[in-house]
Amino acid sequence: MRKPNRSVAQISPCPACGHQLAVAFLEPFRQPLATIAWPSSEEQAKAMQQLPHSFVRCTDCGHVYNRDFCYENVPYDEKPNLMFNRGAIWTNHLIQTADLLSGYLPEGGTAIEIGCGEGHLLRHMAAKRRGCRFLGFDPSGAFLTEGLFQGRNELFLPETHMEQYQPDLLICRHVIEHLLNPLGFLQAIQFYASRFNLRTRIYIETPCVDRAIENGRVVDFYYEHYSHFTTSSFTKMIQRTTHEIELLTHNYNREVISGIFRVGSQHPWLEIDNQAADFRTQAQVSADVLAIQLEQMLAQRKRIAIWGGTGKAAVFINRYRMDAKRFPIVVDSDAAKVNTFVPGQGQRILFRDHLLKNPVDIIIIPMAWRAQDVLLEIQETGIRCDQILLEHQGTLVDFHRDHHPYATADQAPRLSIPAPHYNPQRAAYWSEASQIAGHS
Ligand SMILES: [Zn+2]
Repeated sequence: MRKPNRSVAQISPCPACGHQLAVAFLEPFRQPLATIAWPSSEEQAKAMQQLPHSFVRCTDCGHVYNRDFCYENVPYDEKPNLMFNRGAIWTNHLIQTADLLSGYLPEGGTAIEIGCGEGHLLRHMAAKRRGCRFLGFDPSGAFLTEGLFQGRNELFLPETHMEQYQPDLLICRHVIEHLLNPLGFLQAIQFYASRFNLRTRIYIETPCVDRAIENGRVVDFYYEHYSHFTTSSFTKMIQRTTHEIELLTHNYNREVISGIFRVGSQHPWLEIDNQAADFRTQAQVSADVLAIQLEQMLAQRKRIAIWGGTGKAAVFINRYRMDAKRFPIVVDSDAAKVNTFVPGQGQRILFRDHLLKNPVDIIIIPMAWRAQDVLLEIQETGIRCDQILLEHQGTLVDFHRDHHPYATADQAPRLSIPAPHYNPQRAAYWSEASQIAGHS
């Protein structure tokens, strides 16, 4: 029996499923572009750049891709990606596909083909479905529209064109294998379809290398195809984009795989989108509110100390532009940080005992989550001040008088997942903590 020639696992994100470990699929080699260059002389052909081909396989979905691929090396906007469309069986496949997709398009609907080439499929569909709108995107701009579709000489950008054209149907044939991030591209389409409340069907078609792998066909793996989909990697990519898969099928002797699926309409990702937008908005508002609060304290001639000069405290000091001139007093409980300087603003960090001889009116604790510990330290050391402030929901609040979540000790573990190898002795700290807070 032959000994398997195993390679080291490589940490490399899979373009189809996002898995992080891959193994070598072929020994790395160098060759020029194979299909898109069209050299016009022997000299030109021989002088072509030798590009690195380092094909690896995702250990999860089996996807094959060239981890040294660089999109800029493929001149799509200069040369059309000429696909041989005239073989009888292939022509029949195209017509079948056009007929199938025409059936999915609603009355007056919009269909967009991404990477439409000269527009063979779109012309066929447009002739069948008068009254619908057809657009073709291709950076080569080599369209034969015959007045049947609108050609767009550019790349399709989900963030722009989903909203602009609100497509009912997106067609993407023999394109995703060229993209640097096919999963990201489909997920972006899903995201914008959801954000703009669209219901879009997507048809994807790409070569399938299952048979090439089964039959040891090395020549299928060339530079222009960054990605080589297997049935498994194609399926996984779509499953990571949507749960609404309507059709997955092989065509052309299992050399081609295609899928139809739906995206849009209040996808769960929108919830995170909304949360992030709220957080961002509040962060912008709070910067203004805090600036006003700090100005007011200075106007009232309050003496202010900031507790902490590194980490989160340094972020606080920089974010709210608390410069060394207006806010010179920064103390820390960690002797190791004393006599170092606050990154960005430059206050010399003093030991907390500085406040015993030089009391202030207000102590600001930027690390709100550690406020309890700092408060204990202030009490034990005998430091006095009128007010202790911390940041909560975008404003500075008074630790003792205002409402905030940092006043009570809550050490109960909130997320308790039953561990398969539960050891009660090791877990004593956790169960004790639960009992203290009444969550036994
Ligand atoms: Zn994968």
